[in-house]
Amino acid sequence: MSDPRQHIMPVYRPPEEAFVRGEGVRLFTEDGTGYLDFIAGIAVSSLGHTHPQLVEALKAQAGKLWHTSNMLRVPAGEELADKICARTFADRVFFTNSGTEAVECALKTARKYHWANGDPERIEIVTFTGAFHGRSLGAINAGGNPKYLEGFGPAMPGFRQIEFGDHDALDAAVTDKTAAVFVEPVQGEGGVRAIPEHCLTGLRELCDARGALLIYDEVQCGMGRTGQLFAHEWAADAAPDIMCVAKGVGSGFPFGACLTTEATGIVMQPGSHGSTYGGNPLAMAVGNVVWDIISDPGFLENVRRVSGTVEQALKSLADSHPGKVQGVTGKGLLTGLRLTDAPKPVQTGCRDRQLLVGVAGNNVLRLAPPLVITDTDVREATGIIDESLSAWEPGAEA
Ligand SMILES: *Cc1c(COP(=O)(O)O)cnc(C)c1O
Repeated sequence: MSDPRQHIMPVYRPPEEAFVRGEGVRLFTEDGTGYLDFIAGIAVSSLGHTHPQLVEALKAQAGKLWHTSNMLRVPAGEELADKICARTFADRVFFTNSGTEAVECALKTARKYHWANGDPERIEIVTFTGAFHGRSLGAINAGGNPKYLEGFGPAMPGFRQIEFGDHDALDAAVTDKTAAVFVEPVQGEGGVRAIPEHCLTGLRELCDARGALLIYDEVQCGMGRTGQLFAHEWAADAAPDIMCVAKGVGSGFPFGACLTTEATGIVMQPGSHGSTYGGNPLAMAVGNVVWDIISDPGFLENVRRVSGTVEQALKSLADSHPGKVQGVTGKGLLTGLRLTDAPKPVQTGCRDRQLLVGVAGNNVLRLAPPLVITDTDVREATGIIDESLSAWEPGAEA
């Protein structure tokens, strides 16, 4: 029998199971087996699967209008941009289909800003090791991960990467050639690492002092995931000039956005940038509902509360498996266990027990559950992780 996957470009290696239905925090296979989903399509399904209000919004829009392109007005997009700008640092929004496209818009806006302000030499984008910004050519150059760059031609000029947490290197790297410092307030793929809050404030001060812009990639850590609407809001006086969002903003419907201040975004004028699908009526119908639910202070309060439950449970797992778990990492519901060896076998062990989790960096078992999990879900998940850790022999598998 031929492999049903044979014509899929094999850049991913998914496990055997195929899921055909989702409800809340659970995914189901064809035969009805339920799995607890603690990765949510990598921090995407923020309101869980088939949330009734989102299903209703999408169905209603599907019967009205799907697409016009941005050559015509999209009223629901104007409405969502208004809400975003009323609640955040931002004054302007460009809607995209993905996180990578939000990143491209951010990089282009940063360079154009300096160009328009008579400083065309300021093109450098400074990033940190462990960064992940997507898979376009611009995004892999910003991410700087040699594994993702290999084979795709020469490294692009204008990107400079320094060691995560190296303040001296940062101080030396931000010069009169720097367009922007570009960071994830909580690194996702790089190993679920949070930048300390006072460092974000320091980064803002440094950028101001040197005339560089500050860009946050909150594609993974934003939209309520850490218990604030955006992760940088934990830090005082650390608002960016530009911010990329995606993943959780659509809770499974693909869209993203690049947010900017007035002073920065003003350089993007007719013809500067574009997207055929970005912010189309289907995405905006869903996006408005997701925004209304997650930006509610009571919703975020509950994320912080359940994050506390998760943190407690993970700490006790770390205590009970000292030779296997080095510690707990991350922030809020973008969290994980730093293991003493590669995390894949533990991920597989969890899946064999009907729990889906992720991995990140070299040794992190990553959790990014829907933001609507309950304490009962947390107990079930951590019970399964506990069993999987017990069954795991570090170093035993390749
Ligand atoms: C996932 C991710 C991206 C890329 O988003 P896509 O929607 O896959 O293009 C960019 N930055 C961060 C921090 C991400 O986690």
